[in-house]
Amino acid sequence: MTLYANNRLLGSGGKGLRIHDLVKAPANTPWAVAKQQSWDASEPATVYSTPEVRWDGEPCSAVTVILRTKGCHWWWSSGCTFCGYFNDTRDDVTSEDLHAQWQHALDKFEGFEGHDMVKVYTSGSLLEDREIPVDFQATVLGDCARLGKELVVESRCEQLTEAKLAWATGINPNFTVAIGLEAYDDEVLRFHVNKGFTTSSWERAVDQLNAFDLRVKTYLMFKPPFMSEADALDHCVKWIDAVADRSDEISVNPMNIQRGTVIDRLHRHQEYRPPWLWSLVAMIRSSHGLIHTNNGARTRLIVHPTAGGKIRGSHNCGTCDAEVVAAIERYAVSADLMEFEGLSCDCERTWQAELQRDRTLPVPLGTSKPRRGSALDILRAP
Ligand code: SF4
Ligand SMILES: [Zn+2]
Repeated sequence: MTLYANNRLLGSGGKGLRIHDLVKAPANTPWAVAKQQSWDASEPATVYSTPEVRWDGEPCSAVTVILRTKGCHWWWSSGCTFCGYFNDTRDDVTSEDLHAQWQHALDKFEGFEGHDMVKVYTSGSLLEDREIPVDFQATVLGDCARLGKELVVESRCEQLTEAKLAWATGINPNFTVAIGLEAYDDEVLRFHVNKGFTTSSWERAVDQLNAFDLRVKTYLMFKPPFMSEADALDHCVKWIDAVADRSDEISVNPMNIQRGTVIDRLHRHQEYRPPWLWSLVAMIRSSHGLIHTNNGARTRLIVHPTAGGKIRGSHNCGTCDAEVVAAIERYAVSADLMEFEGLSCDCERTWQAELQRDRTLPVPLGTSKPRRGSALDILRAP
């Protein structure tokens, strides 16, 4: 009852809520607030190591440190339609807490000994002063420079100003900035992602990073909300081509459903199916030739299907998923299309039929079936 009273759209004589408040509602629900307050602010959200490839192409080991922060300033005022980072934040994190989290990561991985690369992720932008205290930004930049580690940080575009980068490169002259561009298309950025910046903002940010000789990593989102499977595939190949020459690396993130987001609502209402793994294979096959030219590779393409094979991540029929996810992950390291040779499954036909329907029927949300399993069982289910 309280929930409805607070989320009233019309009819009771009271002032109607803005759609913005409805979109933000999950972050303010008792379960979300309780979860945020339950985190220990002196420990990072997670720290782990993975195999990686250095900027010069050499294989290496990377430590990823995901810090517990106040979260992203864009989320405070609006937020991207798929972003569930608010689930991992605490709004009272101090510089002291962040230093304790960083020390925790250094201790756990013995000063990052044996790991050439360190990725520091903050559920927002490391170089944004409203989110991360400046002294802590300096600690991360300075420690990684002193230890000789290849540092990767994430940022939105608006933080990457000349003044900020002059300050940061004064401490660490050589790091990589990963920008969540999501789509090289202003309509998609505005109406599907609610990104809060445009492709021109990204172009300007890349100009600045180039001016300071910093490396650029670009994240693209495969299948943002309100998009069919076929559109997702066709658009993503175009976006890869559009950003390839200005990105040292492109990381395509296939949509995975995070709790309490707009995409979570669509998914629950059966109006959205996370991408097929076959679409990712098709996207890699189509973009490989665009990236690898006679003059060498224009950029490096990696695809990491988070929650691959699960209902809330990219998935196929359930039988072939593990094999297809493994091939996609091997491609990120080998850049060799042979990884996909011999992969096949009956569900490919269902996927192809869906692409064909999407391309012929005017259904804006696409024709994806949000459930997998035997077609007969699905028909019989209530
Ligand atoms: S800019 Fe990044 S961290 Fe901020 S709301 Fe969007 S996806 Fe989330
Ligand atoms: Zn299958």
